[in-house]
Amino acid sequence: MAHQQQPELAGWKKELARAFRRPEELLRYLDCNAPELLEARPATADFPMLVPRGFAALMRRADPRDPLLLQVLPSAAESLPVAGYCKDPVDDRAACRAPGLLRKYAGRALIIVSGACAVHCRYCFRRHFSYTRQLLAHPNTDQGEERIHAALAAIAATPNVHEVILSGGDPLLLDDDALSRLVKHIEQLEQVRRLRLHTRLPVVLPSRITPALCTLLSSSRLRPVLVIHANHAAELGAAAATALDKLAQARIPLLNQSVLLRNVNDNAEVLAALAERLFDLGVINYYLHQLDRVDGAAHFEVADEQARQLLASLHARLPGYLVPRLVREIPGAPGKTPLA
Ligand SMILES: *Cc1c(COP(=O)(O)O)cnc(C)c1O
Ligand code: SF4
Repeated sequence: MAHQQQPELAGWKKELARAFRRPEELLRYLDCNAPELLEARPATADFPMLVPRGFAALMRRADPRDPLLLQVLPSAAESLPVAGYCKDPVDDRAACRAPGLLRKYAGRALIIVSGACAVHCRYCFRRHFSYTRQLLAHPNTDQGEERIHAALAAIAATPNVHEVILSGGDPLLLDDDALSRLVKHIEQLEQVRRLRLHTRLPVVLPSRITPALCTLLSSSRLRPVLVIHANHAAELGAAAATALDKLAQARIPLLNQSVLLRNVNDNAEVLAALAERLFDLGVINYYLHQLDRVDGAAHFEVADEQARQLLASLHARLPGYLVPRLVREIPGAPGKTPLA
């Protein structure tokens, strides 16, 4: 074993190492033996399956239509080219200001800090993103330090940027030391007031939310904001609830963004249950995104007309503050474009 000399891994790293990486293994665990589910090998070559065991434990047994399973199980439909779909649907390349730094919207700059995720969502708009060229490399390396300085210089040159968004991949796959160094660098830019993290880990790898991480975030001069990503109430089990409670106790504001996905959450009851569950856990239901048209994700798309009807139906049954903003990202627009 290559890692025998290393100090013991943190709990969340061990959990990630044990994640399901082969569809047949996951399906066996779920007692789900539909042979047609295993037909998707070509789709997995450049974006392999990755599913933490805790997330798989939230899926229904023997149900090939489980909404959590559908988000993560490679499917043959991913290999079909579809007109209007491409590799970079949100034009991240045009927004790139330095390696790893995207600036699209006034006042905010987004840093891609990690190319890795703890789960591979099959609808992900960054599934074809060139992380090696555009990543803010690991802050422990010389190249990482250089790139951080270049990114910070680019932010400093734009004094109206008051918020830095850490994204990826998943920024919380950096360990605490690397994250803390990065936060200290950003704190040195006086113009920056807020630090936002977009992360799916409180949902898919809740053991990452340790007391040390909460302290790291809440003790910064920067006002932290954490945006989680849950698409269905069933994703928010007991472990996620505990993780979110720790963050809320540390007075870190919590928001959620979902993607509207066919057969996963394209249903008013499902969206309403998600909204209620989020609020119970102290999370504001911020955005419901229309899918970005990335190659391999067309089978998840919900038509705009149906999306608007779903939103109207949510407005009819929920208090206004539980209803998310329905948006689509349109390249070149000054912000997310509201659809409703
Ligand atoms: C979505 C996004 C943001 C954040 O937009 P908000 O509307 O503030 O949530 C910022 N920068 C980039 C590049 C984005 O894609
Ligand atoms: S966690 Fe986010 S970035 Fe990672 S695969 Fe899922 S949608 Fe994409």
